[in-house]
Amino acid sequence: MSVMQMFDLTGRVALVTGGNGGIGRAIALALAGAGSSVAIFGRNPAKNAAVLAELKATGKPCTAAVVDVTDRAGLAPAVAAVESSLGPVDILVNNAGIANISGGVLNEDPLDWDRVIETQLNAVFLLSKIVGKGMAARGRGKIINIASMYSIFGAAIGPSYSAAKGAVVQLTKSMAIELAPHGVQVNAIAPGWIETDMTAPIQSIPMNDEIMMRTPAGRWGKPEEMGGAAIFLASSASDFVTGETIRVDGGYAIR
Ligand code: NDP
Repeated sequence: MSVMQMFDLTGRVALVTGGNGGIGRAIALALAGAGSSVAIFGRNPAKNAAVLAELKATGKPCTAAVVDVTDRAGLAPAVAAVESSLGPVDILVNNAGIANISGGVLNEDPLDWDRVIETQLNAVFLLSKIVGKGMAARGRGKIINIASMYSIFGAAIGPSYSAAKGAVVQLTKSMAIELAPHGVQVNAIAPGWIETDMTAPIQSIPMNDEIMMRTPAGRWGKPEEMGGAAIFLASSASDFVTGETIRVDGGYAIR
């Protein structure tokens, strides 16, 4: 297999949740650029349509669906719709996410806690269960979960976010062990501080200075910088990599 073939995703079908947002959009476009057909899920129809237009410009068959990943009953039909239009899903990117900056456990509303856990953790379990079943039956598949620096470090300002992202890393390892005999690799990407709508408010508060001081690269990351790790984990280049969490963080976690 040549190096180009190793990373080539031609003929593959990818599903990216939260594919209309900062990191999800960048990963969806990277996968399409490497040859994959791509389906995105998101709640906002206008954002979906804008990213779908960009995806279609790659020339690959792509779709966008209004799907709320916390609507449990809607997940299986949504995946079935993708598979009937694009084919079986080979690559699942569990990226959809929200954060709740509550200020800590003492302040956090239990309903907000549930919303974050449902979006950031339970949906990862449920979608992996639905999509992973077909992957295991076909003996091939890649599941990529989006973790966080808060998978590693505590977050007093957002304990539900940190709890969910920590659990995503452990779920990644557990699914990796279970699915490895079936030819399915399960890995995670832990982005550092990346410029997106989710993090925009942080860039204008004192916390921004702490982030900059602690990031050896000395800058925020761009969503597009997640694309390389995603292509690696989606492609044959990573066929012997499973249960891993790859940090793409400008060195934030090593200081
Ligand atoms: P954005 O706010 O730009 O994107 C979030 C995406 O998730 C949007 O596409 C949004 O679409 C979608 N989404 C949210 N809730 C739901 C839902 N219930 N159902 C379906 N889609 C949903 O943020 P980022 O790109 O930064 O975040 C992407 C992922 O990366 C998240 O998991 C986040 O926790 C993680 N992350 C981000 C970091 C950063 O520094 N930016 C660092 C580490 C991890 P819509 O609004 O249309 O539903």
